[in-house]
Amino acid sequence: MTPRRIVIAGGGTAGWMAAAAIMRTMGRTAEVTLIESDAIGTVGVGESTIPPLITFNRLLGINEAEFMAATQATFKLGIAFDGWKAPGHGYFHSFGLTGKDHWAAGFQHFWLNAQTRGQTQSYDDYCLELIAAREGKFAHLPNDRMNYAYQLDSTLYGRFLRRMAEGDGVTRVEGKIAQVDLDGTSGHIAALLLESGVRIEGDLFVDCTGFRALLIEQALHTGFDDWTNWLPCDAAIAVQTESVAAAVPYTRAMAHDAGWQWRIPLQHRVGNGIVYCRRYLDDDAALDRLLNNVEGRVLTTPNKLRFVTGARRKQWHRNCIAMGLSGGFMEPLESTSIHLIQRAILRLIRMMPHGEISARDIDEFNEQQHLDMLQIRDFLILHYKATDRRDSGFWRQCAAMDVPDSLAHRIALFRETGRVFRKNEELFAENSWVQVMMGQGIMPRTWHPIAEKLSDDDLAKFMAGLRDGVTATVRSLPDHASYVASFCGTPRSDAA
Ligand SMILES: Cc1cc2nc3c(=O)[nH]c(=O)nc-3n(C[C@H](O)[C@H](O)[C@H](O)COP(=O)(O)OP(=O)(O)OC[C@H]3O[C@@H](n4cnc5c(N)ncnc54)[C@H](O)[C@@H]3O)c2cc1C
Repeated sequence: MTPRRIVIAGGGTAGWMAAAAIMRTMGRTAEVTLIESDAIGTVGVGESTIPPLITFNRLLGINEAEFMAATQATFKLGIAFDGWKAPGHGYFHSFGLTGKDHWAAGFQHFWLNAQTRGQTQSYDDYCLELIAAREGKFAHLPNDRMNYAYQLDSTLYGRFLRRMAEGDGVTRVEGKIAQVDLDGTSGHIAALLLESGVRIEGDLFVDCTGFRALLIEQALHTGFDDWTNWLPCDAAIAVQTESVAAAVPYTRAMAHDAGWQWRIPLQHRVGNGIVYCRRYLDDDAALDRLLNNVEGRVLTTPNKLRFVTGARRKQWHRNCIAMGLSGGFMEPLESTSIHLIQRAILRLIRMMPHGEISARDIDEFNEQQHLDMLQIRDFLILHYKATDRRDSGFWRQCAAMDVPDSLAHRIALFRETGRVFRKNEELFAENSWVQVMMGQGIMPRTWHPIAEKLSDDDLAKFMAGLRDGVTATVRSLPDHASYVASFCGTPRSDAA
């Protein structure tokens, strides 16, 4: 069989994830070429991930300790949100489950009912990952009982995947793409022309050129849905700092009066960044604010980024598939961008054309990818909309905005009944919605009647049993930073 010629434009996280996964999965049925330009470089941010990345790495046969050593990664059990509901208030969105669900009703129903029967313990006390994170503890547990992700250096992840992909047979071409040649009849991309004069032909093109969207937009004019009216932040500045304390197993998202700031501890340094809306905060003031709120010496020149929140109308158009920032961007609040790259790659591999590209495959791909993006968009908007903050123009705008009907329905349903439903393989499961809705201040007015079936004593025993289980497990866990060092610790010089 003639191998399908797959050309990947761009060698950021998206490009190398795609190259490594396609080559490893498709083997000799595909001929993969990746073009990247050292002169242009990568976006240089993207450090916090979510649990499905573990699956991606496993599918590729990646050894976890080697991967963590190579990317200077730490474990992540969730995100601590400070100041989102109100200044001074905080909550945690953790991975994993809280308490124990009944098939008819999630654990939140039992917890809400227990509150009215004199049990005042926090909802947080029933979540292993959350309590472990707060106490700075971590270990792998049998049967994957501890749900986690990674905080990593994405540039190092790209290098790690590049070694793997080149080892598997991916051809890397260094050079700047100067022109995208279209086929006059089909309108498909025929070849990419480099500044050096080299012409690279292909059957399928993967656009991983970042915000430039060189193929999908500049050549194919696919169109873009702008979601800035719901997610108003449009700029970010990132800096890396020295670590001044042991790395904690969670990312921090600290709200300020015109956006928020992240802090992500890796093994060898800390990643920081401020995300803001330029209508309410100018670039100089944002930089000052960031530099005044980092711990440790600043190691890098501030990386200033502008973005428009939204999504390409089609992620797959003709023979071109957008992955990564070329497909759209929805700000890093819940660390979903690398995950969307992963979803697109696995989806493309599942729908890899055999012969001609099927228009039905394209439609199916676009529908599934679009749904993922809409569901994530709604989850992100929730953080801005459901707030008591009215202390700045930014927060007043967020609180007053109309939200998509899909989100308005979820909020109303939860407020009225305590119910939340996960739909169509949605990324964020019930527990994520419950934690963020309650964290942002949306409290259900009632609960499922089944919660009242238990007597006071039985309910108290049930709840205490769950809490005790969490406490005992957390007590048995080692400190996160020591666990990382023993699992995959590397001398700092290896990270360069
Ligand atoms: C502020 C911010 C914070 C983020 N934080 C997170 C996070 O915590 N978690 C997360 O999951 N994601 C995060 N992301 C998203 C994440 O950074 C990206 O999804 C990820 O890095 C993938 O980027 P990319 O590969 O699409 O683009 P890039 O890294 O920009 O790579 C583009 C590639 O295309 C090449 N290229 C471009 N034009 C040409 C040309 N003409 N010729 C040849 N090559 C070309 C470049 O050389 C480069 O190799 C964040 C993004 C931003 C902006």
